[in-house]
Amino acid sequence: MSGRVLVIEDEVDLATTLEYNLRAEGFDVRIAHDGRAGLAAATADPPPDVIVLDLMLPDLSGTEICRRLRENDRTRDVAVIMCTAKGEEIDRVVGFEVGADDYVVKPFSVRELILRVRAQLRRRTQRAEGEPSLIGFGRLEIDHDAHRAWVDKTEIALTALEFRLLHAFLTRRGRVQTRDALLSDVWGIDADVTTRTVDTHVKRLREKLGEAGAYIETLRGVGYRFKSEPDAEAEG
Ligand code: CA
Repeated sequence: MSGRVLVIEDEVDLATTLEYNLRAEGFDVRIAHDGRAGLAAATADPPPDVIVLDLMLPDLSGTEICRRLRENDRTRDVAVIMCTAKGEEIDRVVGFEVGADDYVVKPFSVRELILRVRAQLRRRTQRAEGEPSLIGFGRLEIDHDAHRAWVDKTEIALTALEFRLLHAFLTRRGRVQTRDALLSDVWGIDADVTTRTVDTHVKRLREKLGEAGAYIETLRGVGYRFKSEPDAEAEG
């Protein structure tokens, strides 16, 4: 899988390591060592497909860069993977406020980062082709228009809300879903429910999915992520 990856990282050793390894995987890689150079590279032609963005940069914060990327028509849809330190507000980083698509916690393995980059590239390809009504994913299959779902060819009975939840997960596989984002997308922003409700429904959905329930990964303190590939080992 090829793609253009922009790495915005001020730690020169880490940036060099990422550049080397991503190139070895066949990616077209550009490096920026501060936020301003990163923003310039992000809006250059051709635009990157994925940006690996450090949260702590000397001039602009990663969150500020991410906001600016989302405000700009040219970079709105670029996938952003944020590199955070443990204890940083990951739920905010991947939530509405900042809008990163995924994150890795430092120190992360290069292999883990490459898996995440690939997942974002796959997601972009899928979205570009349009999401059909019938979506198959491993042992799971759903028909969006008919609101029906099957696991190993056996239909499972889902409530309308559980179906919306499953559909939200499936169409954003490989991406972090915060509880707040799910609340807004599945329940509606004005719904009188708490994030605890999300957990309760995800638990019930997982139970109904049986073996396919393992596709939904829990990210403690953050939310959930549907696997990017059915046979992928857990990427967390
Ligand atoms: Ca840094």
